[in-house]
Amino acid sequence: MLDADFFHRWMTAAAAAVDREADHLTELDSAIGDADHGSNMQRGFAAVTEVLGQERPQTPGAVLTLAGRQLISKVGGAAGPLYGTLLRRTGKALGDTPAVTPQQLAEALGMGVAAVAQLGGAQAGDKTMLDALLPAAEALGTSFGAAREAAEAGALATVPLQARKGRASYLGERSIGHQDPGATSSALLIAALAETGGVLGGEA
Ligand code: ADP
Ligand code: MG
Repeated sequence: MLDADFFHRWMTAAAAAVDREADHLTELDSAIGDADHGSNMQRGFAAVTEVLGQERPQTPGAVLTLAGRQLISKVGGAAGPLYGTLLRRTGKALGDTPAVTPQQLAEALGMGVAAVAQLGGAQAGDKTMLDALLPAAEALGTSFGAAREAAEAGALATVPLQARKGRASYLGERSIGHQDPGATSSALLIAALAETGGVLGGEA
């Protein structure tokens, strides 16, 4: 079972990954955006770990809804509201039980990803974070490791796509040949989940 501590550790691992990869994320965003995705994510997840440490929410749902609220209030641009919605909606779907199964998390994450699609009006193949998140949520029904692989493959698969949503879409065909920054950070988020699940044991 995955308790509040597990979700807290997931968010801490995500913050560390975003910190480590901030320059890379910004470099990707400088090719097809405005070169702020690394700093956006870094600022947002630093705020998340700070408030989680202060408030210590006691259920998985409360950890994710608090984290999502922070991202919405601290991160400007497209990614803040989109990631905030992902975590808030996932958290809401988990309800207020003290621990959840990986299967419950997979279903809740599916709802969070659907909320991102609804908010941003994007779908699979539009070269956005959804190209990592949709296959990851699907594969999470199998294992944490499968979700990580699906997210990483999804992020890589954005390279040949033309962006149809967000700032990168302004470039038209010139967005082709670059990896989407948001899909890349989404793969980091899912890799952090797999890392946290791996520490727990039991998942390949
Ligand atoms: P901004 O584009 O406002 O500068 P960021 O650089 O932080 O915000 O985030 C850009 C990322 O947000 C993109 O790489 C893409 O993955 C994601 N994104 C942008 N618009 C959408 C959308 N409508 N739906 C889903 N994801 C989107
Ligand atoms: Mg940007």
